[in-house]
Amino acid sequence: MNIHEYQAKEVLKSYGVKIQEGIVADTPEAALEAAKKLNAETGTSWYVLKAQIHAGGRGKGKVQETDSNGVVLAKKLEDVAEKAKNILGGTLVTIQTGSEGKKVNKILVAEDVYYPGASEPKEYYLSILLDRAKGCNVIMASTEGGMDIEEVAEKTPEKIIKEWVDPKVGLQGFQARKVAFKLGLEGNAFKEMVKFITALYAAYEGTDSSQFEINPVLKTSDDKILAVDAKVNIDDNALYRQKNLAAMRDIAEEDPLEVEAAESGLNYVKLDGNVGCMVNGAGLAMATMDMIKLSGGEPANFLDVGGGANATTVEAGFRIILKDPNVKAILINVFGGIVRCDRIANGVVEAYKSIGDIRVPIIVRLQGTNAEEGAKIIDESGLKVSSAITLKEAAEKVKEAIA
Ligand code: GDP
Ligand code: MN
Repeated sequence: MNIHEYQAKEVLKSYGVKIQEGIVADTPEAALEAAKKLNAETGTSWYVLKAQIHAGGRGKGKVQETDSNGVVLAKKLEDVAEKAKNILGGTLVTIQTGSEGKKVNKILVAEDVYYPGASEPKEYYLSILLDRAKGCNVIMASTEGGMDIEEVAEKTPEKIIKEWVDPKVGLQGFQARKVAFKLGLEGNAFKEMVKFITALYAAYEGTDSSQFEINPVLKTSDDKILAVDAKVNIDDNALYRQKNLAAMRDIAEEDPLEVEAAESGLNYVKLDGNVGCMVNGAGLAMATMDMIKLSGGEPANFLDVGGGANATTVEAGFRIILKDPNVKAILINVFGGIVRCDRIANGVVEAYKSIGDIRVPIIVRLQGTNAEEGAKIIDESGLKVSSAITLKEAAEKVKEAIA
């Protein structure tokens, strides 16, 4: 699960990670109030207004309606409300949102931390993620912060520092110092970076996250180390014990069909193809998607209805698949192990009747306990549903249906 930058910064701060301070606002008036409050608390007289969406590239992104960028600087208190108005409620398109963009409901009003001083402010990159191949977390850092890190990784991989953390002993002091040293830091900035990395790692572990990306981490002109941006991804499987974080979910940022599926206890991932599928078991779902490809179609989704599928889950699955306008046919592939095929067949028929207006052909392949009885129920239902027992037969019927 992703959270917004303003939420991520709150979480980081609670673990002692230094951040660029800010206050979230959802109207231009609230943004002005936030700026005044920041001025009183931090003494800043410049303000950064940052669109809160679950996507990066906001600084270079454009709000379609007003042509404002998604991150802008206001150098006067009087400009804050107007600049906020140009972002709030607009549709922000960045390289990460796709051309349809994302609606901005909130902005973060933050203190300016790029003020001039003894040295130039400098941007770094820092992330922590799970290295599945090595079975441990890895800290990645680079002096090339603020820009497209994928490009740095591709063109100049030597500029990416990696430090793997043994899960049995956790992050060791020398490792944080090694990263700070490799980033070329000295004196107070070095000490600050060591503290930053240590606190950040504690936050990563404490929040059961699967990814942290802080880009940029800023060395201010007076050698403070701060998180200016924060992307935090929390492991969904840990949300049951991370109640405070779970409450930060913003479903407006998620795919509406995936949200609906999760509410019905279905494991659904939207894809771009034309054949919807409903399967019991993740492995069978993968095999079914391969089969759809072999028959010349493209899967429109992954949908695992789980072992205890019944008429209610089948109906919920149907409704979700049918909401996808690209779907030209639906393939139901169920193995009757725990659940009997005749019950699934009845479930399909009931769900079909209850939904009513289904305009795409449906192919049901039932195998396992009571497969024949199931096929009979489907064939005798008088509905636009055809049955198959073998995978090959089902593939041929899918091929016909989308031809
Ligand atoms: P992203 O574009 O979505 O990754 O958003 P970021 O939070 O990384 O901000 C984008 C850019 O805004 C940063 O790389 C900075 O160049 C700029 N920025 C952020 N905070 C400040 C600030 O306090 N002062 C100034 N002058 N620029 C800032
Ligand atoms: Mn950023």
